[in-house]
Amino acid sequence: MGKVIAIDGPSGAGKSTVSRLIAEKLGFQFLDTGALYRAVALHLRRKGLDADNTDEEIRDALKGVSVFFKDGRVFLKDNSRLKTQNSELFSGEDVSEEIRTTEAGHYASVFSAKKAVRDFLLQIQRDAAIENDIVAEGRDMTTVVFPNAWKKFYLDASEEGRAKRRYQQLKDKGIDIAMEAALKDVRERDIRDSSRDIAPLKRADDAIYIDTTDLSLDEVLERVLQSLK
Ligand code: C5P
Repeated sequence: MGKVIAIDGPSGAGKSTVSRLIAEKLGFQFLDTGALYRAVALHLRRKGLDADNTDEEIRDALKGVSVFFKDGRVFLKDNSRLKTQNSELFSGEDVSEEIRTTEAGHYASVFSAKKAVRDFLLQIQRDAAIENDIVAEGRDMTTVVFPNAWKKFYLDASEEGRAKRRYQQLKDKGIDIAMEAALKDVRERDIRDSSRDIAPLKRADDAIYIDTTDLSLDEVLERVLQSLK
């Protein structure tokens, strides 16, 4: 088992950027678990499922499906369809762009409250640390997936600060969004992510708390690196 740096926090607190850079700096692998939830949600939506479906129906829809990272990209593979000739089905479909829309984030949040989805991704996330040192970021890294992580952090920021960040991220990706819509998105997702029954977002007692609202990226990185010493 490798070393795990676990980072949790609400959407837009800066977890992804910080985690990616810390991983690069330390030579660790970066595990973006939100991307896994987004890819699973994309698959379930394509199959026509929504929040009303039962865990059993979701489990069925996930049979033979794998989600994985390759060269920093996220892939979705439906092994139950491998009998067809489509080569994309053999190597997996690169869904890295498609999972980044606000709609994909919304459904990731909706489906992530389902036990069948959390069970499906639990082992995939733990397996990532079997042979590698990793920086894992998400909502339940410090509490459920890696409760014995080497170091734990909780990154937070004001609601407005997080909405601004989310707005900028989407703009940078060429996705058109109004500031009010970005605020609504972080607000709704945070309520849902913190109030769900299974693995809700919460601050672990032993996680180092960093409020990133008034800090530059370099300052956040500095604090994390200091704590790792
Ligand atoms: O971090 P990101 O915005 O990509 O995550 C998308 C959604 O996936 C979150 O709003 C949350 O509902 C869900 N998620 C989760 N547990 C994680 C990572 C993400 O429930 N470890």
